[in-house]
Amino acid sequence: MSTKNIEEKQYLLRFKCDTKSHLTILDHDVCMTQCPDKICTVFCPAEVYKWEGTRMQVGYEGCHECGSCRIGCPYQNIKWEYPKGGHGIVFRLA
Ligand code: SF4
Ligand code: SF4
Repeated sequence: MSTKNIEEKQYLLRFKCDTKSHLTILDHDVCMTQCPDKICTVFCPAEVYKWEGTRMQVGYEGCHECGSCRIGCPYQNIKWEYPKGGHGIVFRLA
């Protein structure tokens, strides 16, 4: 059985990015003042969420559409939608 590292696996992914994010942080103050663990920066497999010191950066372009952030944010502070039709991730089978 062959093993692949994450870079090799990501080669199987293609993205057709929209210009508008399908992921929205509803209130950046909640991230700043109520969420010391910033758990979204840990559970997201695509490392979409990056804490920039005062604000959560959302690199929506790399989202794998797994849906984890719909339930993973303890404050329901992430609005999650599918990307607009024809956009988002495309999985290629190896
Ligand atoms: S887990 Fe939710 S509240 Fe916490 S930093 Fe991430 S988006 Fe903000
Ligand atoms: S849907 Fe999954 S990959 Fe996309 S931002 Fe949320 S946790 Fe990350």
